[in-house]
Amino acid sequence: MKKILITGAAGFLGSHLCDRFINEGFHVIAMDNLITGDLKNIEHLFKLEQFEFYHHDVTKFVHVPGKLDYILHFASPASPIDYLKIPIQTLKVGALGTHNLLGLAREKKARILIASTSEIYGDPLVHPQTEEYYGNVNTIGPRGVYDEAKRFQESITMAYHRFHGLETRIVRIFNTYGPRMRLNDGRVIPAFMGQALRGEDLTVFGDGSQTRSFCYVDDEIEGIYRLLMSDYSYPVNIGNPNEITIKDFAEEIIKLTGTTQKVIYKDLPQDDPLQRQPDISKAKEILGWEPKVGRAEGMKKTFDYFKTLSKKELKKTEHRDFSSRNK
Ligand code: UDP
Repeated sequence: MKKILITGAAGFLGSHLCDRFINEGFHVIAMDNLITGDLKNIEHLFKLEQFEFYHHDVTKFVHVPGKLDYILHFASPASPIDYLKIPIQTLKVGALGTHNLLGLAREKKARILIASTSEIYGDPLVHPQTEEYYGNVNTIGPRGVYDEAKRFQESITMAYHRFHGLETRIVRIFNTYGPRMRLNDGRVIPAFMGQALRGEDLTVFGDGSQTRSFCYVDDEIEGIYRLLMSDYSYPVNIGNPNEITIKDFAEEIIKLTGTTQKVIYKDLPQDDPLQRQPDISKAKEILGWEPKVGRAEGMKKTFDYFKTLSKKELKKTEHRDFSSRNK
């Protein structure tokens, strides 16, 4: 039985990866320090013999007994509200955590895939973003702690590949959504859906002309799985190229949820990228991958998930409003 270590396993993407690799017949070692992850996302797996959970912070030395075939490094805060709250941990998990896991991969002769992000393109001057674009990142802005950690992560991963001949894979993940997203992570989809469920107005930041392209989680996981199994060691964008302005997206959510509330406008957070759309030619060519789930279907499934949350959970939501920090 193949053995895989998944870091950030109790998070949104990590937990879906655990499900996928269990279904593929792997022995899964799940690791998380539970700062932003939630055991609720993986508790259904605890009864399985081929599943283990280690409560561990990967910025500290990582030890796993026995053989290991694959490592997926998905531990990291991943939303702007988290980078502001835990900036040092964000830098450490991308830098020190990645270093530890690359060392572990070398020791075990395991193949490692690291989760990079469209954030490495910053506020992009090239549109749509191809893997060849170097990006436009403000190193000292509020997102810098995430963006630069992820850029460093890519560099050190390529260095281990070139210098030590390690088998490495780098996925650049674009905005992904679906069940198990954290309701209070401040991201636009849980924010709008939570607001609709609580009967609050939907908060659009800026004039809403900024764009994003949202990928449903099942598609994202399929792309990651194919990349891990491929022999391609350069970065690959995995995301859905279907782009929409945040203002139009708010209108879609109003229709989907049937809320009678309206859209209200707040200040645009500092360094909020104005446009984002993946060029997925490489994923199509190398992995034969493209997204299959449209926004209407994916958003409905996601809203159905948020509807199952209790009133108490819905109330816990924090509001993300950076306006005072922008000045
Ligand atoms: N956004 C918004 N209202 C919210 C939360 C986010 O208008 O309540 C905007 C945000 O400014 C950004 C877009 O939605 O332009 C996507 O934000 P998210 O945090 O989901 O992802 P990221 O900016 O990292 O792509």
